Amino acid sequence: MAFKLKPPFEEHPPIYERELEDGCLGKGNNNGTILISEELDPVHHKSIIDHEKVHIDQIKRGDLDYDDENVYWKGKTYPRSKMKEGAPNLPWEKEAYSKTDDYETL
Ligand SMILES: [Zn+2]
Repeated sequence: MAFKLKPPFEEHPPIYERELEDGCLGKGNNNGTILISEELDPVHHKSIIDHEKVHIDQIKRGDLDYDDENVYWKGKTYPRSKMKEGAPNLPWEKEAYSKTDDYETL
């Protein structure tokens, strides 16, 4: 069951714990919310949230968007079927990894 985290997460975007697909620890949504895996140990929540906040920022400033088929980055289309999601060499991940620790996330 998902629930909203209590403070000190209050100043962050809405954050929900969810069952995420295999290997996915966190997810920044294009509606501005952040999902974190309910399997994740809470000691890792901050690094995941920091990482996903970079993606939320990318979405808000218009650089990043996605749907079920593709990821859109600065006007270029990246088919999701051809990428390893969360790979640090993807341009939107590069920024997220450079601004946070190197915890593996999407
Ligand atoms: Zn990421």
